[in-house]
Amino acid sequence: MIDLLLGKFNPSEQSAFNEVPLYTADEPNHYLQSEVLDAWLEMYEAAQQNNIELRIISSTRNFEKQKTIWENKWNGITLTQGRNLAAENLSDLEKVKAILNFSAMPCTSRHHWGTDFDLNSVEVAYFETSKGKEEYHWLHENGGKFGFAQPYTLKSQERPTGYEEEKWHWSYTPLSINLLDVYLEIINYKDIQGFLGANCATELNVIQQYVFGVAENCRPTIV
Ligand SMILES: [Zn+2]
Repeated sequence: MIDLLLGKFNPSEQSAFNEVPLYTADEPNHYLQSEVLDAWLEMYEAAQQNNIELRIISSTRNFEKQKTIWENKWNGITLTQGRNLAAENLSDLEKVKAILNFSAMPCTSRHHWGTDFDLNSVEVAYFETSKGKEEYHWLHENGGKFGFAQPYTLKSQERPTGYEEEKWHWSYTPLSINLLDVYLEIINYKDIQGFLGANCATELNVIQQYVFGVAENCRPTIV
């Protein structure tokens, strides 16, 4: 369980994971937990019947994949909201905060769990277009019927901390709520390591602020 939560595995080698059929994704080699995949295919079909085209563009990402995404932003190989962080004179903490607007530290990403995926585009602007708005509206109205919820809603009193709003990121809550519960129980800051900037995890309280910084309908009930 700890390896799953930290992304320390290869989804293609896990019996609990299956490959997403290519007609519902942008490329091969997307994997999800089998139960999540079944729910995804049902939602995909229902959307098709309403003339809404959904495509998985990111799914399970293990630690290594997340580390590459994270460190490429850290090193300026990919831009972070238009900024080359390596070219700016930033402290480690400032860099981490900039990347954390939309990207999770390795070991803290819900994409490790096999329950979450990104649909159609990871650009905020896409969901401002009429096509993007229509797709989001459909997901917002219908996702719940298939077990899917949006963890990163607009920040509000209900979700005061964490990543910016992500209209593309959906989570299969019948499994992910329990995984979040277990995460909070068993993962410690000493487990969050092995990548550039990991030293800032404790100071930024990333478990409470980011891992737990999800919409109420994606959180376990804390007693
Ligand atoms: Zn995502």
